[in-house]
Amino acid sequence: MWGEFSLIRLGLAFLLSSLIGWLAWQAQALSKSGALAAFLVGGVVFGVGGWGGAAVLLTFFISSSLLSRAFARQKEALSSFVLKGSQRDAAQVFANGGFGALCLLAGLLFPDSPLPWLAFCGGFAAANADTWATELGVLSPLPPRLLTNGKLVPRGASGGVTPLGLLASLLGAILIGVVSTLFTEQGLLTLFAVSLGGFVGSLFDSWLGASFQAVYFCPQCQKETERHPRHSCGGLTHLQRGVKWLDNDAVNFACTVLGGMVALGIAVVSFGL
Ligand SMILES: [Zn+2]
Repeated sequence: MWGEFSLIRLGLAFLLSSLIGWLAWQAQALSKSGALAAFLVGGVVFGVGGWGGAAVLLTFFISSSLLSRAFARQKEALSSFVLKGSQRDAAQVFANGGFGALCLLAGLLFPDSPLPWLAFCGGFAAANADTWATELGVLSPLPPRLLTNGKLVPRGASGGVTPLGLLASLLGAILIGVVSTLFTEQGLLTLFAVSLGGFVGSLFDSWLGASFQAVYFCPQCQKETERHPRHSCGGLTHLQRGVKWLDNDAVNFACTVLGGMVALGIAVVSFGL
């Protein structure tokens, strides 16, 4: 399943990932720290995961980079709420791809098991589902509501969901499911496990975002925001609710872990692996 793992392939993988990191930095899809993180994650994923790993990672990276550029007008209003712009930094890269890379490294210890590959794909399906939901959810004609209690929240707020965003999340998960399926022998099971893992992971992201993620308040603008210590207006913000260290990156990381675990769990239950 992994193809032939070798030091030559690992070397080529890091060469390729440095090229992609550099291009993404030039195109301002990644910050400098983000490009360095992408070099590490990409090197591991290409080197250990081979063609399948590369296909999954690049499907996620290219589709999310393009979507985050699209619909700029609708996203202008988000900038006072969200902490970071469309240029992804190292914490964001590790939050989305770190778990998947660790799964592939763990797979080196269990070369005959399909489970590490499924967990890797489930993690990336969750990252893709969550990114698609965020980037396409802004087009929703309906305002977002908290997944937990249905309360209206500002656009871009973590934990807010719209029907369009949920549909985008499902499609984003299925796309990774389809790509994953091309590189395994258990076709339908992989499609089902990875797609469902991705969708559930993304729902978990919204639930954590609604329940525990840190949300700040700007007294000057009378607005909720993820920005701290200072709002986009320059004023100091204070913690309104949630857990201080549980920021968007930590929530995203948890989303990928759960996505991978659900995909793996489905395979274990179906196959008794
Ligand atoms: Zn303000």
